[in-house]
Amino acid sequence: MTIYNPTKCPPASEIDIPALHEKYLQERDRRIKKDHNEQYIPASGKWKDAYETDPYTPVAPRDPITGETDVVILGAGYCGMMVAAQLKKAGIDNFYNVDHGGGFGGTWYWNRYPGLQCDNDSLVYMPLLEETGYMPSKKFCEGYEIHDHCQMIADTFGLRDNALFHTMIQSLKWDPELNRWHVGTNRGDDIKARFVVMAMGPLNKPKLPGIPGIDKFKGKIFHTARWDYDYTGGGWRDTNLDKLGDKKVAIIGTGATAIQVVPHLARHAKHTYVVQRTPSTIDARNNWPIDPEWFKSQKPGWQEERVRNFHRFVFDMPERGEPDMIQDIWTEVTRNVCAEREADGWPDMTPEEFAAKREVMDYRVMERLRNRVSELVQDPETAEALKPYYRYQCKRPASNDEFYQCFNQDNVDLIDVAETRGLEELTENGFMYKGKEYECDCIILASGYEVTSDLDRRWGIDTIEGENGLSIYDYWREGFQTFQGMTAHNFPNMFFTGFTQASFNASNSKTFIDQGFHIGYIASEALKRGAVRVEPGQEAQNAYITHLRSIAVDNSEFVTECTPSYFNNEGDDTKKRHIFGEPWGEGYYPFCEMLAKWRDAGKLEGLVLTQPETLEPAE
Ligand code: NDP
Repeated sequence: MTIYNPTKCPPASEIDIPALHEKYLQERDRRIKKDHNEQYIPASGKWKDAYETDPYTPVAPRDPITGETDVVILGAGYCGMMVAAQLKKAGIDNFYNVDHGGGFGGTWYWNRYPGLQCDNDSLVYMPLLEETGYMPSKKFCEGYEIHDHCQMIADTFGLRDNALFHTMIQSLKWDPELNRWHVGTNRGDDIKARFVVMAMGPLNKPKLPGIPGIDKFKGKIFHTARWDYDYTGGGWRDTNLDKLGDKKVAIIGTGATAIQVVPHLARHAKHTYVVQRTPSTIDARNNWPIDPEWFKSQKPGWQEERVRNFHRFVFDMPERGEPDMIQDIWTEVTRNVCAEREADGWPDMTPEEFAAKREVMDYRVMERLRNRVSELVQDPETAEALKPYYRYQCKRPASNDEFYQCFNQDNVDLIDVAETRGLEELTENGFMYKGKEYECDCIILASGYEVTSDLDRRWGIDTIEGENGLSIYDYWREGFQTFQGMTAHNFPNMFFTGFTQASFNASNSKTFIDQGFHIGYIASEALKRGAVRVEPGQEAQNAYITHLRSIAVDNSEFVTECTPSYFNNEGDDTKKRHIFGEPWGEGYYPFCEMLAKWRDAGKLEGLVLTQPETLEPAE
């Protein structure tokens, strides 16, 4: 295996940046679809059944629950677990984690496809390593290791008794008489919850591409998030897909998931067609084992420091002498800019000047990655088709040591569908490509998740009604309206997580920990103060949004110029809401400091608390 020197990118003088910029725009334009998000169709019929059925854990019968609880948390993945752990720390034990799956883990419960690994530094991505005392085995852990660590978190924080698995929430209705939420589920529950926390994470619903004829195909078809090992052979922890030896398989998509799957298909299937619309950015993996001695030598607070370092190298401007602890594709652009700045004696630089340097380095790093494709793929035409022409961070960067080499095998073909903006058609026996039918036994959808579809479709909850029956879907139709990104006027005792009008860390799990902490603080304070109802006042919410917008950073040029993906609403710049919502323009850590100051003041300023005796709101 060649270990690629990650700092070896061509100098700016050797690349034609204006010409590349033009090429990036052309490549974007030939992929933009007029129907943007609507190219993905709602899962109904057999798709709905496939997505909603849990193939891993039998459903245990239980009686409906109709009692009261302090908190219902929607979700038991990373986000739901982080909220639960923080509630426990805040002294709240009386809650349920409600999840569609049959166990803890969310994404890491459902996704069991061969090759599944973390794509981020495990020491950053896997949460609560200090609390659980867990040492990840390597830089990018296997999916099952992350899943197992989720079980460890559940045990460490005593979350098992609070879990309601195989339960899908269907309705959430605020009851002003009880000052509680009615939580209705597919198990007949009507739980009366004082608080509700929406903690579903962004990758909870597999996405179905609206390829003409998608229902015609008579062979085996499944999404990567519902891998069928009965069909392929092998298993989650043993990826010997021995039943594919006589099968022709097509995999649709070349995102972070497909990159990990393809080498396993190439190894085991009789033939593999890799259907690509947009190439990924793929660096060498360099998946080194974690050294136990090094791990033991870390001082308390090390993970927090490492997460902060990761965030600074992905989104911020590091200080002089600040080392890049992560040393991978995620941090390379900033690492290289800092190295060159140091070589120049660390001249003063405004954030704008730093961003300009990053932009040039971005072209250089992407050129290095394109050169990597030429080095590894023998057929020049295939190599060219596999090269990414867009800015780093337009799509999630990946790393893999086997993906490109697969295309040198006789049993692997690249099916490049950029020209038709997606696969033309599925037939009874396979798929159409350039007017020819390609027969296959199995089609695997590595087509991602409903990240940017409308909230009602993404959340899959029919009814969410706050004060006076107001639907959250209507309230947020034109964009989020929140206070601190975590509460909303008209929706008392409800908390939100993720990418709303809060800020987000480069590591999702860190965002979830901090949001869980803040939510735990507000909920526990409300309970301690005897309040039955807490919500932001209209004025406080308006002021928050006004301030948020006044400090917003305009990155619309970058986003618009990106190739379409869920990062930019599939190229639809008319939509108000997309995955990253409206983040706090000053950055993640200033946002956290603002919240910490607000908590330290102890006044819950901006929230209206209602006491049961008076039922009169008090600021
Ligand atoms: P993505 O949304 O990133 O990729 C979907 C793929 O399907 C894209 O290549 C897309 O092409 C393709 N596609 C969609 N519709 C069609 C069509 N009609 N014809 C042809 N191709 C089509 O999904 P992934 O599952 O790969 O990744 C989703 C996210 O999951 C990642 O961004 C990441 O956040 C997470 N993930 C995390 C991992 C981790 O280690 N932590 C590992 C794997 C995934 P196009 O790009 O042109 O739209």
